[in-house]
Amino acid sequence: MSLDHFLAQQLTDTKKAGLYRTFRTMESAPKRTNRIDGVEQLVFSSNNYLGLAADKRLADAAKLAIEEFGTGSSGSRLTTGNTTWHQKLETKLASFKQTEAALLFSSGYLANIGVLSSIPKQGDLILSDELNHASLIDGCRLSKADKVIYPHLHMETLEKQLKENMQYNRRFIVTDGVFSMDGTIAPLVEMRRLADKYEAYIIVDDAHGTGVVGESGRGTSEHFGVLSDVIIGTLSKAVGCEGGFVAGSSILIDYLKNHARSFIFQTSIPQASCASAYTALEIMDSDKGHLERLRSLSAQVRSGLTNLGFNIRGDETPIIPVMIGEADKAFLFAERLQAKGIFAPAIRPPTVPEGESRIRLTVTAEHQKRDIEHLLQSFYLIGRDMKVIGREKNFV
Ligand code: PMP
Repeated sequence: MSLDHFLAQQLTDTKKAGLYRTFRTMESAPKRTNRIDGVEQLVFSSNNYLGLAADKRLADAAKLAIEEFGTGSSGSRLTTGNTTWHQKLETKLASFKQTEAALLFSSGYLANIGVLSSIPKQGDLILSDELNHASLIDGCRLSKADKVIYPHLHMETLEKQLKENMQYNRRFIVTDGVFSMDGTIAPLVEMRRLADKYEAYIIVDDAHGTGVVGESGRGTSEHFGVLSDVIIGTLSKAVGCEGGFVAGSSILIDYLKNHARSFIFQTSIPQASCASAYTALEIMDSDKGHLERLRSLSAQVRSGLTNLGFNIRGDETPIIPVMIGEADKAFLFAERLQAKGIFAPAIRPPTVPEGESRIRLTVTAEHQKRDIEHLLQSFYLIGRDMKVIGREKNFV
């Protein structure tokens, strides 16, 4: 049997299981609307939370850096790929996250892999939230430490697991800061208390928290006023660029430089990416307008959908999961939204548990009042028609 024949058989199984995925093509810049497969759509599913991904100032910074430094960094950081731009961005990231130091990775995915494959060792225990992102899960799989999973945000179970496992050399609590499919925020105050009581360390993936939560958008640490031992982030969401990073103590960063294989063996991101991310962080530091708009619009969508009778999950974040239930129903709901010019895909098993399919809405600072009105009106009409909400509710 040829390899293609074998793979085609596997794909047939994937299709039978309803798990086959295809691309949608975005044909214009990542703004509040985008031409998707030839049709202009209002986008309510992007991670460009602050609307910086198509900001001219970021593009100008990248253009200047390309002119001066070219398009590729041409080496890993430990060879020829360490430039003034990488160092400048790391200093900026450390100051943004209020840590001693920071280290760039090529993506958030690789930062998670690098941390988890190098820090927890054989003889250690990783305690991981059941809804952690795939890249944390993959990092845990690469680690030689033992692993236990606790139910989503369930601090009583986490405490029990910590208490019962004091024989391990070290314990690492691993969690998303803001959970990408549920919009929930990890309870860091309680986690810190447990970590201190049971001599554990906290590793937080703040991919969706960076630029979004905390008074000035510094992330979940700022939101709770609690410092985690290892903070991981990405430049690909609110920062509007590409790349990942770890922030923490100087010793942590020095250790990762020497031990994290996904750092050591990868070409560093281009200087132009550093320059645009640097500019984004400067904007985030000096102008809170984006963040304020994002918060106010997210609150409007949350309260609007709740008032209409939808079942919404999550905390006060721009990630707003609207629970639909069965996978087919969620898929149909998303199709009907698209017919009304709204792009917000259905999230179905295995990404979420059976019976918990949802429309995962994300709000960005670029959305306008009329976009929110159109969104709420469309949800109301479709939700009433598909009996996701009761008929008696009136759209206001
Ligand atoms: N962690 C979380 C929680 C994420 O949602 C993502 C991206 N989907 C990542 C990590 C990976 O970040 P990046 O896109 O920079 O690889």
